[in-house]
Amino acid sequence: MGFTKELMRWYDKNKRDLPWRNTNDPYLIWLSEIIMQQTRIEQGLPYYRKFVGAYPEISALAAAREEDVLKLWQGLGYYNRARNLHEAAKQIMKQFDGQFPDSYTTILTLKGVGEYTASAIASIAFHLPHPVVDGNVLRFFSRHFGVKDPISSVKAKLTIHKKAMELIDRNDPGSYNQAIMEFGARICIPRNPLCNQCLFQQSCFAYSNRLVQLLPVNTKPAKQRVRHFNYLVINCETGNSLIIRKRITQDIWKGLYDFPLIETSKAITTDSLKSMPEWSIIKQLEPESQVHRSAIFRHVLTHQVIFARFFEIKVKQVSGLPEGWIRVYDLKKIPVPRLIEKFLEQRQRFF
Ligand code: SF4
Repeated sequence: MGFTKELMRWYDKNKRDLPWRNTNDPYLIWLSEIIMQQTRIEQGLPYYRKFVGAYPEISALAAAREEDVLKLWQGLGYYNRARNLHEAAKQIMKQFDGQFPDSYTTILTLKGVGEYTASAIASIAFHLPHPVVDGNVLRFFSRHFGVKDPISSVKAKLTIHKKAMELIDRNDPGSYNQAIMEFGARICIPRNPLCNQCLFQQSCFAYSNRLVQLLPVNTKPAKQRVRHFNYLVINCETGNSLIIRKRITQDIWKGLYDFPLIETSKAITTDSLKSMPEWSIIKQLEPESQVHRSAIFRHVLTHQVIFARFFEIKVKQVSGLPEGWIRVYDLKKIPVPRLIEKFLEQRQRFF
């Protein structure tokens, strides 16, 4: 039996019952693909359900406020995905009269949709023979077919894409794509693949040549940037309110809210905070002399590690706040990064 047939038989027996597997609706498939990128199924599934509940159709998502979309996405990370999802929904309403585009090249024009997502939607929703090549497929094919070029290189990707194009099931490209990703995610896993349960053991190049631990060839990961965030948690004595501001620059968490922030090259003490030029703004708000400094929160992102400290400052008045600083009484409806959420969970007395 050939590679493709064996794979499809395996998938038939092993496929998981997931809500987006029982639909041909391109909107729902797109939603699931965007949510599930860089996300485990257990983590992404509740988000998928929340989004379908709040925005059952493209028009509802397009009409939503960006802040509401970001709030629903809160905790899932990679917030660009949420912003692009929202933008693309508006694009579909405007450019395609609310109809999801039905060709690979037009799907590719949607904001935030790359080759992988376009292939997944085109094959699953419209039965078009476009193979998906995600991290799972790259790893599985590199081992099985003995692709030794660094897996992030254009050469390796082209070789694997060509192979995937040859092998795709033209009668059922959607199931084939789901099968290949599922196989990579469940059997040919990154560390200690389950070779003893693998139906391709005999034909696998890496297994036959004892190269399973060496393939795929990974180049060194990019160095992580270390950042020190000093948050000013300004609490007005006359009421239980806090000062926040919207993140608008091209940095992490664009569109979300956090506290006024001073970024430094290393951790600082309360005394050094008070000697900084930014402290003059706080002085105008008549702060109490006592500042409560939190423990350090370590927050890891893909290419960054953030060491955050929260300096809680009680002030007497909050008139004449700098531009962009907003006084809020309830942060529950406002989209904030997970780091801020973690801090607030520890400081529940505020809210
Ligand atoms: S034999 Fe092992 S390395 Fe080869 S495809 Fe199967 S799980 Fe992957």
